Amino acid sequence: MNCGEAQSLIEAFIKDELSMRKTKEFIDHIESCGTCREELEVRFLVEMTAAELDNETDLDYDFANMLKNRIVEKKRRIGNYTLLAFLILLVSAVLLVLAFYYFIIL
Ligand SMILES: [Zn+2]
Repeated sequence: MNCGEAQSLIEAFIKDELSMRKTKEFIDHIESCGTCREELEVRFLVEMTAAELDNETDLDYDFANMLKNRIVEKKRRIGNYTLLAFLILLVSAVLLVLAFYYFIIL
């Protein structure tokens, strides 16, 4: 992913509208590119401030931490998803092997 693409996805990322694959590519880019990370931080701050004004709450959020937590949470979810896909693949392989043996024995 290049900077142009990453920056065009910032809003979708903040609004949680990216697919799992795009989220992973986005986070990979953000973690290796200071320019886009700063851009994300600024846009995230603006979005959160606006959301807070809408809610008329006066909670003192730590926005930088919120963003960090969000990225950690996304990565955890992507990790779980990858593990699940791997387990499904493993079970399928085992079933295929069992089916194959069954077929041979008959
Ligand atoms: Zn970049």
